[in-house]
Amino acid sequence: MNRTVDVLWTGGWDSTFRVIQLLFHGDDVKPHYICDPGRASTPLEISAIHRISDLLKRKPELEGKLLPVTIVEFSDFEKYSDIEEAYIELMKEHYIGEQYKWISDYCRFNSIESIDISVQNNPFIRKNYSRNDYPFSIIFKGLKFPLITLSKNDMKKWCADHGFLDVIEESWFCHSPTRSGKPCGVCSPCIVVSEEGMGYRLPTSAKIRYHLRIIPRFKNFLKNYPKLYAYLYSLKSK
Ligand SMILES: [Zn+2]
Repeated sequence: MNRTVDVLWTGGWDSTFRVIQLLFHGDDVKPHYICDPGRASTPLEISAIHRISDLLKRKPELEGKLLPVTIVEFSDFEKYSDIEEAYIELMKEHYIGEQYKWISDYCRFNSIESIDISVQNNPFIRKNYSRNDYPFSIIFKGLKFPLITLSKNDMKKWCADHGFLDVIEESWFCHSPTRSGKPCGVCSPCIVVSEEGMGYRLPTSAKIRYHLRIIPRFKNFLKNYPKLYAYLYSLKSK
């Protein structure tokens, strides 16, 4: 019988990679999606999850089974005061996102003993996630970080070598999409995509926004060319 692995699936690149990797190695995957109340990208992330799930079902080489995703609202699970206290204690030492606290709450509430969190490129988590002392023992209890030593390009290469590039490219990355549902080009995941050599995943409008943001002088320069400026501006709002 296959092992079942709980995975926090955001619809993004890293967690999509983890889902594919587990299925490929013959593990069954139970995905969980926690709606982040402060994020406009929720519907796009959920639609990416459904789109990717459909694509994965058409890959007969995957030996593991993808179980239906559980989607929960922030208000669907209890918040525990000892987890909150441990989080505050940890924050005195180093900033980490509030999502780690929610994930701990979620796992305790649902008796999930272990869940894969697909974070990579985070030196603090890498150094501390397996510590057994307080407050780490509370916040990171049951949280596994199997991709912590990989880069996005390692994942990309693996997907290309194993025939899953078309799947992972369906993942969603932008935290503040435009009204028409396209990546913005200026939020931190969009910047990461550009900086890690995957700018091709951004639509033209987002690329322009990205460059206007990081090179403010470009904007001043453009003011001398009103027609060009107007043209770029019109693309920007598409
Ligand atoms: Zn963005």
